[in-house]
Amino acid sequence: MPGGRMGIIILGIIGLVVYYLSNQEVNPYSGKSEFNTISIDQASKLGAQSYVQMLRQEGQNVICGSGAASCDASSRRVYNTVNEIGERLRLAAIEMEEDYLAAGYEFEPVARKFDWTFNVIQSEQPNAFCLPGGYVAIYTGILDITGNYDQRVTLADIEDVDKLAVVMGHEIGHALAHHGAKRMSNTRLAQMGTMAVGLGLGDMDPSQARMVQQAMGMAAQGGLMAFSREHETEADKIGLELLVRACYDPREAPELWRRMGQIGGGQRPPEWMSTHPASETRADNFRQWMPAAIEMYESRCGALD
Ligand SMILES: [Zn+2]
Repeated sequence: MPGGRMGIIILGIIGLVVYYLSNQEVNPYSGKSEFNTISIDQASKLGAQSYVQMLRQEGQNVICGSGAASCDASSRRVYNTVNEIGERLRLAAIEMEEDYLAAGYEFEPVARKFDWTFNVIQSEQPNAFCLPGGYVAIYTGILDITGNYDQRVTLADIEDVDKLAVVMGHEIGHALAHHGAKRMSNTRLAQMGTMAVGLGLGDMDPSQARMVQQAMGMAAQGGLMAFSREHETEADKIGLELLVRACYDPREAPELWRRMGQIGGGQRPPEWMSTHPASETRADNFRQWMPAAIEMYESRCGALD
């Protein structure tokens, strides 16, 4: 390998390290400093764009929200329920951020300035998300899993809303901790690193170069997946705190995730291949967090039965 090329690669890698170190922000939920190159405003703008696009694509399936085509009495009840939970979780998020700021964490709070919007999509899919900026969508296909779990979606599913609040709290947790922006930042960084190494492979035997590139790709992929699992765990933890602050029963969380783990009929890949934590890991986490969650609930909301 000629010296000039090696110099360029080393400069490239030093550049990436500097780039990484100079784009750090404190995450009050993990207490760690984390890499993020996308500002809150940028991420919220992207969130708003994808949300508008999603609503447009769903068209008639969007129930009761602004511009929605259909809103009969039962759709209205589902829509109102989701919005009531959303409002309680929004207030909980504002309070939680203020408590973390008061505790001395230096970060930019977002719950007050997010453009919180809660829409319900008529769909068989058991799906829910919260985009950066506070743009939430709940798909009706998830309501039986969060409801009475009798394999059909009916209004009976929203009689007890604690598990629906678990899902919404988790999704909102992703947005509050800027997981979308951090994932994009890290994906970009991995691409730049792979490019830098790619430059260095120019003179290598092609089959060897291919092997190195494949190994790099797998390492990057593995790293990003581990990263996603970390985010899932963090969203679980933030979601649980929001739940308690909004006075929803935290004991419903493990059962909800047990049900979610059953989707796919045990065909789930082993944990390291997947972006979601294995059900057992998740259950262990909740067992660990539950005593403090119950204590906080009871001190704020009254005794649990
Ligand atoms: Zn998640």
